Formats: sequence, C-alpha cells, structure tokens
Amino acid sequence: MKSQRKEIISYFRQMDRSFFMDSNKELAIFDHALPIGFEQTISQPSLVLEMTLALDPQPEQKVLELGTGSGFQTALLAAFSGSVYTIERIEELQNRAKERLGQLGFQNIQFKLGDGSEGWYEQAPFDRIMVTAAASEVPKELLEQMNKGGKMVIPVGSSFSQELRLIEKDNNGKLHTTLLNEVLFVPLKGKYEK
Ligand code: SAH
Repeated sequence: MKSQRKEIISYFRQMDRSFFMDSNKELAIFDHALPIGFEQTISQPSLVLEMTLALDPQPEQKVLELGTGSGFQTALLAAFSGSVYTIERIEELQNRAKERLGQLGFQNIQFKLGDGSEGWYEQAPFDRIMVTAAASEVPKELLEQMNKGGKMVIPVGSSFSQELRLIEKDNNGKLHTTLLNEVLFVPLKGKYEK
C-alpha cells in the first residue's frame, strides 16, 4: 500500500473551505473551527488534514465517517478512497452537505441520517473509520465493524478535553492505540454521550 500523503496535501491546499459554509465565509481562511449552525462546527482545517493523513485512506477502501457536518472532511476522504459511508444526525446539515458534495461531482458517497455511534452494520466491515465528534469512550460497535488491517481516528474524552487517538487493528485482530494530539470537538451525541 502506497501512502497518498503528498497527493492528499496538495488536494487539501486547493480546497475552498468557504464552499462548505453558509455564513462567515470570510473567516474560512483562518485555521479555526467555525460555526455551521445547530451548535455544530466545521472542523479546524489543520486538524482535518492531520486526521486524514493519520487515517491513511487507500483507493479501493471503504471508509465510514461519523459526523458529516459541512461535508468538508467527507470530500477529502471521498477523493482518496473507494467509497465513503457518512452518518449525520442533523437532517438539515446532511441535506446541505449532500447538495455540496453532489455539486462537486462525488459519486462514491452514501449518506445516512441518525446516531452513528453504532456504526453502519449493513455496510460493515470498514477499512477506515473517521470520527469527527468526541466520544466519551470508543464505541465497541465501531471496533467490531473495523476490518483487519483497519484504522480508526477518533477524539475521546469529555466535552472540555479530548485526546485524538489512532486505533489500528492488526491482521490477528489485535488493537493498537497511538495518541496523536489534544483536541476539542463537539460531542458525539447518542449512545456514547456522557
Ligand atoms: N467533519 C465535520 C465536523 C462537524 S462537527 C466538518 O468538518 O464539517 C461534528 C458533527 O457530528 C456535527 O455535524 C454533529 O451533528 C454530528 N454528530 C454528533 N453526534 C453524532 C452522532 N451520534 N451520529 C452522527 N452524527 C453526529
């Protein structure tokens, strides 16, 4: 497997973040999380890149994403994987993201509305899992729905402080966790909400 690191970085650099926002578009150039309504945020760009590089998506792979939000992270994943299955619990955000990603021509994205904490059982297993909201613990359903050789990037902690983890499942099914960063995401609602 070849890392797509260079290609991901150059694609990311030419992305227009403001396209994924409805208001405050003039702030899109700053490296901050920004509000997208419904008390949710479009993630900090440098973090989107860091998380994507850590996840290391591959051209034929199936990716699960929790928290579609604006669709910004979804676009980056869809550009570098086989297919993306993305779950969002707020219908209006999902509709907007769907429209934008359609306008960009992506045809390898499936959308689901609801609590993503339990993953997407019918479509499992996944080679890569990206979680863009903070869970109080790693959902066991996501670990089960991960392929051998798979990777997951997930922020874990309270609503005030979280650690960003890279969890890898080796070919024997054993899990290995690496701490990547200290981060602050909006909470993952539903089953694993504190
Ligand atoms: N990657 C997105 C991040 C959005 S913030 C972006 O950069 O735009 C996190 C998103 O996760 C929010 O849109 C929120 O509604 C969604 N979310 C929170 N809990 C969820 C859950 N249990 N299932 C699905 N989506 C969830």
